[in-house]
Amino acid sequence: MMAVLTDLVPRCAGALNASEAYYDAARRGVRNMVDGPDNRVDAKLVNRHQHAAHGLAWVATYVEALRQMLRWAQDLEQGGKFGELEQLTLQIAFGEYLAQLAGGIAMSQVEIVRPHDLGVSDDDLHAFWTGDVSQLIRHGSGDTARLRVVEILAADAASIGFGEAGLDEDLVMIRDQFHRYADERVKPAAHEWHLKDDFIPMEIIQELAELGVFGLSIPEEHGGLGLSKVAMCVVTEELSRGYIGVGSLGTRTEIAGELIISAGTDDQKERILPGIISGEIIPTAVFTEPGTGSDLGSLKTRAVKDGDVYRVTGNKTWITHAARADIMTLLVRTNPDERGYRGLSMFLAEKPRGTDDNPFPAKGMSGGEIPVLGYRGMKEYELGFDGFEVEARNLLGGEEGNGFKQLMATFRIGAHPDRRTCRGRCPGGTGTGSATMPRSASSLAARWCSSPGRQQVGLDGGRNHGGAPALLVLRA
Ligand SMILES: Cc1cc2nc3c(=O)[nH]c(=O)nc-3n(C[C@H](O)[C@H](O)[C@H](O)COP(=O)(O)OP(=O)(O)OC[C@H]3O[C@@H](n4cnc5c(N)ncnc54)[C@H](O)[C@@H]3O)c2cc1C
Repeated sequence: MMAVLTDLVPRCAGALNASEAYYDAARRGVRNMVDGPDNRVDAKLVNRHQHAAHGLAWVATYVEALRQMLRWAQDLEQGGKFGELEQLTLQIAFGEYLAQLAGGIAMSQVEIVRPHDLGVSDDDLHAFWTGDVSQLIRHGSGDTARLRVVEILAADAASIGFGEAGLDEDLVMIRDQFHRYADERVKPAAHEWHLKDDFIPMEIIQELAELGVFGLSIPEEHGGLGLSKVAMCVVTEELSRGYIGVGSLGTRTEIAGELIISAGTDDQKERILPGIISGEIIPTAVFTEPGTGSDLGSLKTRAVKDGDVYRVTGNKTWITHAARADIMTLLVRTNPDERGYRGLSMFLAEKPRGTDDNPFPAKGMSGGEIPVLGYRGMKEYELGFDGFEVEARNLLGGEEGNGFKQLMATFRIGAHPDRRTCRGRCPGGTGTGSATMPRSASSLAARWCSSPGRQQVGLDGGRNHGGAPALLVLRA
């Protein structure tokens, strides 16, 4: 059997139509669960039907991913760049996602959302199983297709990327520049940084600043390069290929930059943005508390106004790069009478830079390192605040009670490359949400399996076969 199905693109277009109809059915099903008597979404019912509501978000994401994959493929086809690897990438993505839509999406290892959980009827499910969907599920992402991808990758290990990403010329230039940088400056030293559990050297941070990484998507009027979020993804992806910590350095500057641009006062923009862009001000994001992660709206750390300062008291945890940072985007409760998200405010809290010997030289602030197995280079900390002072002029936007909304607005516009770096689930490159970890892992696995004479789980691991681990990675 040929690895690529006949009429692949029209087949995928047909399957996308079926997926969109499936999503409409799921949306109707979930609305039936969460609508109140006035036909408006009832927050209490959403709370009760969290599994379905969460599942619907996954379905919407899958369908959007398929839509973007198809658009990517059609653009490549028009440009005469839709080669075998790209065709297989499209086919595997459709085969895999359609199968999950039909059978159940694993939202986590223990949470699978199945069609009936979303109120999708048997009729709707049968309607989803068109000839196109059936063919793609049965033959789209099986071993024939995946092994062929491994063969192609193994034969062309020197090429940048994972096939044609469909980027424009500028983005290709940016990608190549950071690819070279990661190869020359990051990769050779990264393993040692990891083994020693060292900070990423300041020299690297300075070089990244000079390359524009920390102002990449900050508008030119504020001194940044004014490039798109896609550019940020491309840079993050290439740097992460060298070392996940280096790729992720820009995340905190993105969060801080985005918060300040979208909600900061003119004074905050003028005072803080230039330093973030130049790398002189290293930011850290301080949101999570012991016992409060996803549910940020209930965090407890308090800030009380006292003249020209706020005094902060409470505990935070899992704070990346906290010791070396100069500024914290700090989410705290300013109104204790308001227990939900409305009582929260965001501060741009300045602190002195710490060292290994004295990580937290600030009055009213202490902390301890949380050792981690991976994701090293910036270090993780738990923090304690006891009357820690923040200047009142550093309340983001100058008004209390907006912190949660300000933060959520940055999530909405996709300010967090970490999500793309570590958690991207969509195959097919940057335009559809990148997948640095699986990508690096699969190319490493393919290389490992292609070493002469290797035999893996019954597969010939010679030059023309990828071998089982690469196949497993491609399944991830
Ligand atoms: C390496 C690392 C670095 C980090 N860096 C930072 C940082 O720099 N700054 C910072 O502020 N935080 C940081 N964090 C914290 C991170 O943001 C939190 O871990 C995350 O928000 C999840 O919170 P939690 O760990 O309390 O898990 P929980 O919120 O308790 O979630 C545990 C599980 O329950 C599930 N769950 C949660 N709520 C629901 C629900 N309503 N319905 C169904 N399932 C649900 C989650 O999906 C998850 O699987 C970091 C964490 C790590 C591991």
